[in-house]
Amino acid sequence: MSAQHDRTAWICGAGASCTEFPSPVERPVRLVLLGAPGAGKGTQGELLCEKFGCCPLSTGDVFRAARSLDPARLSPAMQTALGCMQRGELVSDETVIELVRERVHCMECRCGFMLDGFPRTIRQAEKLDGMLAGRGVALDAVLSFELPREEIVRRLSGRRTCRTCRSTFHGITKPPAAEGVCDRCGGELYQRVDDTPESIRVRLEAYDGSTIPLVRYYEKRGLLVPVRADGSPDQVFTRAMETLSSRMLLKPD
Ligand code: AMP
Repeated sequence: MSAQHDRTAWICGAGASCTEFPSPVERPVRLVLLGAPGAGKGTQGELLCEKFGCCPLSTGDVFRAARSLDPARLSPAMQTALGCMQRGELVSDETVIELVRERVHCMECRCGFMLDGFPRTIRQAEKLDGMLAGRGVALDAVLSFELPREEIVRRLSGRRTCRTCRSTFHGITKPPAAEGVCDRCGGELYQRVDDTPESIRVRLEAYDGSTIPLVRYYEKRGLLVPVRADGSPDQVFTRAMETLSSRMLLKPD
């Protein structure tokens, strides 16, 4: 996540507003990110936000933050969402759409935005289209980070996460300075239960089920920008920028 964005309006929802904004950008860029777990979407999202100054809008972050907010401040849709999550149920499209609708003014931000984790289904994508059209705002591109399944399994099964600050490391590609210890905060590193090879396969199947139709949806609308996600973060970012630049006629550095 980019440190330069306040994101109060997105995280807290209706009525809340950001108090600090990064310097104005020449042209607000509006993106959606797609990518299987392990494809490096989080890292690329940070780099893209840094490059374009756009605000990272993640629905997962909204849910995580809501758990520590005063329940009296939560909207009915958020209370429904948290109830579903506590019971281990999926949050319905209707509820997620309502939560995004409560934050729709974020999509008019002069910084632009980068949606991450939304939309996850065709229904969410259709509703997003409606919300954007209603505000006269258009997406510039939907970046889809693509990586062969074996490589995803290799990446995720070597991943270790910090119990304290959630930073991630990798036994081969990004080892911590001291084994089992987070470089950033000194917290303990562990393997998430959903980072074991069997859980990874289950997660990937669920991801494919919902995302392949979404990829087709944006392909048909001419918005899809597929990006090969193998190689180092810098290599992937360079590839993403080349494709985006030629598409949006942006000036590369
Ligand atoms: P993420 O950080 O995107 O992986 O999201 C964390 C969790 O929040 C997911 O596993 C879902 O339970 C929930 N979530 C986030 N975004 C959505 C969405 N667009 N639709 C349904 N559930 C979502």
